[in-house]
Amino acid sequence: MLSQTHIIFSQAAFYTACAASGHVPQWWEALLCAFFSLFPADVDHPQSLIGRALPFLSRPVAYWFGHRTLTHSLLAQVVVCTVLIFSTSTAVWLPIMVGWVSHSIADMMTPSGVAWFYPSRVRCVLPGHYDYRISIGGTGEVIFGALMLGMIALMFPYSGSGQGTTGLIRQSIGDVAAAREQYDQQRVGFQWFVEVEGINKDSLKPINGKYKIIAGEGESGFILETKGKDKAHVIACQTNSCEWYLSKARLHKGQAEHVTVFEYNSDQTDTKTLLAELGSTGQNSDVFLIGEATTKEGEIIKLNYDKTTALDGLTIKSVRLKIQARHAPKLAPKFALQSDVENTDDSNLSPYLAKWLR
Ligand SMILES: [Zn+2]
Repeated sequence: MLSQTHIIFSQAAFYTACAASGHVPQWWEALLCAFFSLFPADVDHPQSLIGRALPFLSRPVAYWFGHRTLTHSLLAQVVVCTVLIFSTSTAVWLPIMVGWVSHSIADMMTPSGVAWFYPSRVRCVLPGHYDYRISIGGTGEVIFGALMLGMIALMFPYSGSGQGTTGLIRQSIGDVAAAREQYDQQRVGFQWFVEVEGINKDSLKPINGKYKIIAGEGESGFILETKGKDKAHVIACQTNSCEWYLSKARLHKGQAEHVTVFEYNSDQTDTKTLLAELGSTGQNSDVFLIGEATTKEGEIIKLNYDKTTALDGLTIKSVRLKIQARHAPKLAPKFALQSDVENTDDSNLSPYLAKWLR
């Protein structure tokens, strides 16, 4: 086959292999795969693109071994693959092997086939009937190339999911536990959204839509941003304890996002100061509060990924808070208030050490 068809086929095979295996491809891996779809296989062909680039290698190989023999052989591929698997990472061996093996398979589809089991000179062909094979540079090769371009377009979006075949099947049927598992594995560094189907347990109305994930909840649930007037978030899962019962969930990755956490513990704070500071922290970020606040009247308000609006109208006296600010990668927020309580409930750190770590 022509060099360009080999490159196109190698890319289709590479993105398919990534989607199936769960390896997330990088652009340079695709380039590596394209290069190895020509080299070393067509070194044995002095008129090919790679043969013309490396005539000092190409002529002796063509003379001693002939075309489509050693450099296209399964034996050479298995030996090199074994060495690479034990000496490099998936990011290196996968594109190299997919590129190289795809070359041999593509050549099998041509009338003269490949001596894939070299040193045996028997030619392997695919498919067996001569009339169904693709003559080099003919209409068949153009159609094959076009089909493989379509395959690249189809597989490229799936290849980045990193879920592998099983994960993709579970996602396509909307498995809630699978969505949560993927979220736990990949959540760091990005915003995440989830497309859900289910039922509101209070109103019994059906739920169908795409929501931003605030955090995971329990075993396989989510805390979702709802932008409701009275409620900023909702707990959704597959047990009876949640506000929304989910029957289906599909994850979608959003923009890059970093998380900065501030700890604030105080016995002498007030609502106005705290809200003003949270307001300036939240200028370039989304702020969530985790912990508890105690009012002057002694009422304890539990906060679980609540927005700052949860404190509106309260007269707060003391707080034990983790303030989570989610922001674009380069916009690190600040929080100026200093804790006046050294020990926190969930920290076993000595106050002396904590002082230096804060
Ligand atoms: Zn070839």
